[in-house]
Amino acid sequence: MPEIQPLSQLDAVVLTHAHLDHCALVPLLFKYGYEGPVYSTPATRDLASLLQLDYLDVIRKEDRKIPYSSNDVRDYLKHSIVLNYGSVTDIAPDIKLTFHNAGHILGSAIAHFHLGDGLYNIAFTGDFNYGKSRLFNPAVAQFPRLEALVMESTYGGSNDFQPARHDAEAKLYATIQSVVGRGGKVIIPAFAVGRSQEVMLAIEEGMRFGKIPKVKVYLDGMIKEATAIHTAYPEYLNSDLRNQIFKEGLNPFLAECFQQVDSQEMRNEVMAGDPCVIITTSGMLNGGPVFDYLNNLAADERNALVFVGYQADGTLGRRIQKGWREVPLGRRDSIVINLEVITVDGFSGHSDRRQLMNYVGHVSPHPEKIFTIHGDEKATLDLASSIYKRYRIETHAPMNLETYRMV
Ligand SMILES: [Zn+2]
Ligand SMILES: [Zn+2]
Repeated sequence: MPEIQPLSQLDAVVLTHAHLDHCALVPLLFKYGYEGPVYSTPATRDLASLLQLDYLDVIRKEDRKIPYSSNDVRDYLKHSIVLNYGSVTDIAPDIKLTFHNAGHILGSAIAHFHLGDGLYNIAFTGDFNYGKSRLFNPAVAQFPRLEALVMESTYGGSNDFQPARHDAEAKLYATIQSVVGRGGKVIIPAFAVGRSQEVMLAIEEGMRFGKIPKVKVYLDGMIKEATAIHTAYPEYLNSDLRNQIFKEGLNPFLAECFQQVDSQEMRNEVMAGDPCVIITTSGMLNGGPVFDYLNNLAADERNALVFVGYQADGTLGRRIQKGWREVPLGRRDSIVINLEVITVDGFSGHSDRRQLMNYVGHVSPHPEKIFTIHGDEKATLDLASSIYKRYRIETHAPMNLETYRMV
């Protein structure tokens, strides 16, 4: 077991991006007395505090015990230090930090640590996408120096291949076409940050080029605020999208087809209204307005529920995806699922297995050691052993609390 250090001994906290599996507990450090800095990009800071406050709100509504208060979120903001990609900063007497684009969500970063006098260099990928998406350039793979790489393995398993983005969009278009054609509504559950904006861009372009019918696309949940933060940081978007916004004056996020649902009354109107597309939180159906839509629209077989993101075990989303046709609602009632259930893979913000392996092939300079983390145990082990076999680089798939000496 590693020695447990008091929080006052901690020099700095580095946050790679704003997804809750990375940032939800940062305010807890402040609740327990941490007073040091938290480094992130500016976009990550804005999105992280938005999602942390939303997280508290969801927990409060479900009558569960909240882990920290909004004061602790404020405390985190007070201690936040923001860095843009490429700027080098001392975060401890012998550690320099530089962020590089990770291609995963707005503001997501690969953290590069330069230790001592550059004697040892570690890149920590956080979640990253080595493919080009509608929003971002692929993750950076060039570093000035690199001895160790710590990389995510969400899709690190030997069969974790995702369809190409083009094929995913074609399937989404075909689905919208047929559901709207038969007079139905398309419900797309999505996380507020990342998948929602990718899907919005695909749909907006599909409508502009006449590939799908021009129906209203309603956004419900935290998606509007998260999307607004995207337009506040155009320098974090890829060059195509930036050109489209600034040179052609076409900001797809502000397209006419999108409409925010901001009251229960409007939600009821949407549910009773014409064929449309509804993008709403939460992404795995474990709370949020999506539940209301499902409750009201699931019985009509003309409608469709379209999954564009990963559904974790134990979530309602996974159950419906696996084929459940009746799901409990409270203690007594249940929802009968007659609508069509469709999964469209390929919108992920993560590298799939092929891209993870390619990244290791292309990363420069070649590291001496690679650690595979952030994945199921099987995926991290599988990726580690495949990297070793193909590239002969020393690999480790560390268990929780395991420690390593780098040199
Ligand atoms: Zn993430
Ligand atoms: Zn993650």
